[in-house]
Amino acid sequence: MCPASQQRLVVVSNRVPVPKDGSNKAGGLTVALEGALKQSGGLWFGWSGETVENPPGEAKMVQSGNITFAVLDLTKQDYDEYYAGFANRALWPVCHYRLDLVQIERHELDGYFRVNHAFAASLALLLRPDDVIWVHDYHFIPLASELRKLGCKNRIGFFLHILWPPPDVASALPAYGRLLSSFGAYDLVGFHTPQDAENFQQCLTRENIGSSVGPGEHHIDSHRMRIGAFPVGIDIDTFGKMAAAAEDNALVRRTLKSLGDRDLIIGVDRLDYSKGLKQRIEAFSCFIKSNPDFRNHVTYIQITPKSRSDVPEYQQMQREIAEQAGWTNGSLGEVDWTPVRYVNRTVGHSALAGLYRMSRIGLVTPLRDGMNLVAKEFVAAQRPEDPGVLILSRFAGAAHELDCAILVNPYDTEACGAAIARALQMPIEERRERWATMMERLRSNTVQAWCQGFLDSLRSVSVESTGLFIEHDTRTNWSVPPETPSP
Ligand code: UDP
Repeated sequence: MCPASQQRLVVVSNRVPVPKDGSNKAGGLTVALEGALKQSGGLWFGWSGETVENPPGEAKMVQSGNITFAVLDLTKQDYDEYYAGFANRALWPVCHYRLDLVQIERHELDGYFRVNHAFAASLALLLRPDDVIWVHDYHFIPLASELRKLGCKNRIGFFLHILWPPPDVASALPAYGRLLSSFGAYDLVGFHTPQDAENFQQCLTRENIGSSVGPGEHHIDSHRMRIGAFPVGIDIDTFGKMAAAAEDNALVRRTLKSLGDRDLIIGVDRLDYSKGLKQRIEAFSCFIKSNPDFRNHVTYIQITPKSRSDVPEYQQMQREIAEQAGWTNGSLGEVDWTPVRYVNRTVGHSALAGLYRMSRIGLVTPLRDGMNLVAKEFVAAQRPEDPGVLILSRFAGAAHELDCAILVNPYDTEACGAAIARALQMPIEERRERWATMMERLRSNTVQAWCQGFLDSLRSVSVESTGLFIEHDTRTNWSVPPETPSP
């Protein structure tokens, strides 16, 4: 058997960043995972992003250095049931506490398990006995249990990039017991926050699935599963440098010019009901109405690329938010002032970094969010001598680390409006102090550290071991303690 550090890493995710000619659009997370894959050679496996009539059962392979990218196509039916259906109309809303939006369709549930089975069967053909497997996100919860059925004995870890809710909410999931049990095939299950990890373990306990052996460890049959919080970070140095360089970016310069001497408030979110965009526009409106002196002195730019437009709930939301932005401009605007610039376009990372840097306020007010990287990017992009202020929802995972932001309840639109006024009037000393504290936190938990931390914990798992944990991780009090030798 290879030493742990030389074992090949296999990453599984719904979308795979297969290298394409000359393009280099990878985000921080992709770069960090590719870095980990390069260390000992690796395989990145998942969906190609394509739907075809008759997908071949085998994965299409692309080699890049010592990383193999292997992707499978889906049929349209698979896509509709597994991705647009169960993943995004059942798992996503439940995990974001939106039980009112859950669609329970038996055939979508079947499609979800069917695709997981097919992906496991195809991946199993590519695996070596020493591989360490890291499965990502809610699309692939049952993947490990499908692999185990095929005889896979490798170490398998899972990281959930979204929230995990408490039992009363999570139990609204169709096939709740089956899904929860399938987690038991993983050796390590990671979440963004201690709260998510705690919720998850409570779910197992309430459903009588295995038995808890204290925070961070659960025994299911003879298998031991570890559970931990691994808050994902960003590459703050790279992002900070990109933001400084972007002062020369053409879009950033044009935007600055278009603002005149008005202050900029920025929001950047995929179009999703979890992001609280309706409440946010309402909060901005409250701010202007309660603070008329700021009329024509601030502009709120909301950059919101459309997402999941083939899911009906998203189509309706697109219409509602566009109407609300239009209505707000109609009622508050002036001939020479558009208060809200609502833009359904994707802006590249470099220009985005420059826009964050010239903003007085970053408005990040999701109703629920697993982490929210925009909040971290906004902080990393600021000028140390004159930093902008982050207004952050207390319901974003990022609030655990960025508690020196102005924390708000996004449902309380008047209070959010007051927070905007406070941020615009905040003395420079207070802005610098808050920013410096947040930067310290971000520096101590970069995306590279996140990746390494998860893999170190996974590689330390001895698959047969039933030893107890004794030590606590210093980053969180909900921790993944190190392995103790088996008796
Ligand atoms: N993003 C981007 N261009 C855009 C909008 C967003 O590059 O026009 C990026 C943003 O910089 C961040 C990511 O998309 O890195 C969004 O991550 P976040 O965790 O905030 O939200 P998610 O979309 O994953 O729910």
